[in-house]
Amino acid sequence: MLSDAELDRYARQIILPQFGGAGQAKLNAAHVAIIGAGGIGCPAITYLAAAGVGRLTIIDHDHVERSNLHRQPLFTDADIGAPKAAVAAEAARRINPHVAAEARIERIDAGNAESLLDGATLILDGCDNFATRLAVNRAAVARRIPLLSAAIGAFEGQVALYEGWREDAPCYACLVGDDPDRPGINCAEAGVMGALAGMIGTMAALEAVRALTGWGQPLNGRLAIIDMLDRRWREIGIAKDPECPICRG
Ligand SMILES: [Zn+2]
Repeated sequence: MLSDAELDRYARQIILPQFGGAGQAKLNAAHVAIIGAGGIGCPAITYLAAAGVGRLTIIDHDHVERSNLHRQPLFTDADIGAPKAAVAAEAARRINPHVAAEARIERIDAGNAESLLDGATLILDGCDNFATRLAVNRAAVARRIPLLSAAIGAFEGQVALYEGWREDAPCYACLVGDDPDRPGINCAEAGVMGALAGMIGTMAALEAVRALTGWGQPLNGRLAIIDMLDRRWREIGIAKDPECPICRG
């Protein structure tokens, strides 16, 4: 049951008929694991905490660097050198004291992904490399946890939702293959606009809330591609790869 203070805090979303008290109850009961407290993680954590997701597990082994600050607004100069996950979890609790936010200051990989993600109702992956994304995808399929995947580089962002354990739904590897050595693009090399990270991380949070509470058109099996160099927005369907080594039946 929600307290009066909680009803007041969430009033403007509870009043939405598509969301309502039932949506709020689902959010409060949800446990979202966030991979990466970076450009995508910071805005995602902010809005998921503010919206009242009951439990957040923030997984990041990195420390705050000065070059993060233009796109990771949970951090300030005073946090340089501190573990990102710990600073972000503290910020989440400050944003909303009703949220249980836990920091896991470790690198997630194939060896620990399943145990780190255990009990999550949704995974939001905003990390910066393929090897991690593939390990997270494998664990998400094995544990049957919806995987909201968001990525940014330069002026472009992508957001998709995978439920690869389902017979007709793709996993992340259906889109990109399963080679962890595949060259990726990261912000250190490609550069990125800070506000684009904010936009895509916020969109990831909104799609996570949608996936957890169910309203409108689900993103399942679809990839939204947002090109903010020229303001082009498109969405494509992702087919399940019948030969996919991760999710084929
Ligand atoms: Zn697959």
